[in-house]
Amino acid sequence: MSMERPARLVLLPELELVKSVKLSNRILGFFKKTSTHEVCPKCAHLSESVYDHRPVRIKDEPLRNKLVVLLINKRRFYCSHCKKPFTEPVSGIGKGRRTTERLRSAICWASENFHDLSRVQRHYDCSADTVYRATYDRLELRRRKRLYPLPPVIGIDEHSLRKPKGRSTVYSTIIVDHTHRRVYELLEGRARGEIEEPLRRLPGRSNVRVVTMDLSPTYRTLAREYFPKASIVADRFHVQRLFTKLVNRLDPQNSTLPS
Ligand SMILES: [Zn+2]
Repeated sequence: MSMERPARLVLLPELELVKSVKLSNRILGFFKKTSTHEVCPKCAHLSESVYDHRPVRIKDEPLRNKLVVLLINKRRFYCSHCKKPFTEPVSGIGKGRRTTERLRSAICWASENFHDLSRVQRHYDCSADTVYRATYDRLELRRRKRLYPLPPVIGIDEHSLRKPKGRSTVYSTIIVDHTHRRVYELLEGRARGEIEEPLRRLPGRSNVRVVTMDLSPTYRTLAREYFPKASIVADRFHVQRLFTKLVNRLDPQNSTLPS
């Protein structure tokens, strides 16, 4: 196989191949960007003045079981407006990242499909941290894409996530979409300070007309604040549970409720 062929396959849109080297277990591709000017990310001024070069090493998605490494001689342009240099961006590689976006997508796919995460690490020759970050970044993107505006009828309730040994139970707050009968969102924690900010960011809060919940004063206060057009309905089962507890404690001798 010629050296040009694998290089063409791994090419990112804006990069031009300088040369490629095929080793026993990996392919090294040397690249450069050939644009005549770049836009300053801070002030959006055009700059044609190259300040210096910074070589970077980027891991890409493996090709035919060979690891692919992109060695890019990145240019830094000088912004005459900011009086500072800035590094040219490359499509397909996030700012400051050492992995391509397509490699991160591949890692996320593998994390969901491989038997264990150490196989993912070995297959992509990356650290546990990279696997974790790439996977959770992608999952977060997917979560945001699926987050539709809030429906008219929702429910808020606490949910115990786990009970670590010797420590108190970890709680979350679950938002239920009663209209479509599904879980809408899970927020970490149940205290005001923990859920206030995520609640504020939920799209379509003004759509909500009814919020069902337990008798917790925290949730009631938050619902009044963040869903101002909604009526608050105490969930029947939470009220019923209070009553059932009292009935179970009823003294059979004189049929009086404990105080
Ligand atoms: Zn600038």
